Amino acid sequence: MNSLTEILERRDFSLDEISFLLQLAGKERTQLLQKAQQVKNEFIGNKVYFRGLVEFSNICSKDCLYCGIRKSNQKVIRYNATDNEILEACRFAWKNLFGSVVLQSGEIATNAFAKRVEGLLRKIKQFSNNELGITLSCGEQTLETYQRWFESGAHRYLLRIEASNPELYYKIHPNNKKHSFEKRLESLHFLRKAGYQLGTGVMIGLPFQTIDDLAGDLLFLKQLDIDMCGMGPYIEHEQTPLFQYRHLIKPRHERFYLALNMIAVLRLMMPDINIAAATALQAIDPAGREKALAVGANIIMPNLTPCSHRKDYQLYEDKPCLDEDAAICRNCLEARIELAGCVIGYGEWGDSKHFQRD
Ligand code: SAH
Ligand code: SF4
Repeated sequence: MNSLTEILERRDFSLDEISFLLQLAGKERTQLLQKAQQVKNEFIGNKVYFRGLVEFSNICSKDCLYCGIRKSNQKVIRYNATDNEILEACRFAWKNLFGSVVLQSGEIATNAFAKRVEGLLRKIKQFSNNELGITLSCGEQTLETYQRWFESGAHRYLLRIEASNPELYYKIHPNNKKHSFEKRLESLHFLRKAGYQLGTGVMIGLPFQTIDDLAGDLLFLKQLDIDMCGMGPYIEHEQTPLFQYRHLIKPRHERFYLALNMIAVLRLMMPDINIAAATALQAIDPAGREKALAVGANIIMPNLTPCSHRKDYQLYEDKPCLDEDAAICRNCLEARIELAGCVIGYGEWGDSKHFQRD
């Protein structure tokens, strides 16, 4: 193996080299993390962009084995935020110069759902004079629905592949038509075809997942030539089938460190994409997102979900909730971001430079 300093100068790595980088610890790890920050600053600068996150419904037709709001979890109180609640959250984002929002929900593939989202998109564009950028994260849909939403104003889409190794994918999803790996992949291609900035990602520290799986995930993201990435630690949830394998997972702090290494290595491999500091990082470490911003991430998603619904959107345990972000004083978030060596791009969309370059 070549020396670490030499490897870090490159942008292309073999699977073995990625596995090696992901396992770095101590001083060598610090070297990796610092290099990632340097590469980020060199290629896209030190601006961080806000995406106000609106989790507008927890109604879901799927049964992903890791997710707290899966269809079969009968303990969840289901909600569907009203149009007014959603628009108010978006208005808050606009007034506070967040630049963009993310509308996220469980996966519902009905015509009525598609129509509702379309209506919301048009209203958001209208009241904000087209100033608010919109990312969607509403799961797998038909090409027609993706196109319809794109035409109505959404321009980025986040659909995690979750695990790019099909064998692992089927260990964390039921093995049936509704949860097909092929369909997930096809949806990613539909999104690109429809014109979106394409975002995907994986969970880190899943039971049965190896370091080589994670290295393979990074090669998958590169090969797909994504524009944006959202990836974070897997966090167990008691009311899910995967919880029975919790003895197989790494301790939380190790998953956290592994997630930071994943972000850093991806930044080296894809210097000009947008990388989100995942909310799940914050569930492990209160300053988790800011730590990710210091090692290559450039997107943060303050939670704007109406407070009354937050406790019902528990994808995983200890999800930071209550009235955290929306109410947090701007100065405080600003100070924490500055500590990470970044500045906030207020009022800007902060599109992926990678997409603009295509
Ligand atoms: N229903 C949509 C969007 C909402 S779920 C979809 O599945 O694409 C958003 C993300 O939450 C998922 O992509 C998954 O990666 C993440 N997630 C769900 N359960 C999780 C858990 N237990 N730990 C960490 N992330 C989880
Ligand atoms: Fe539904 Fe998304 Fe959770 Fe899967 S991960 S159960 S699609 S909300």
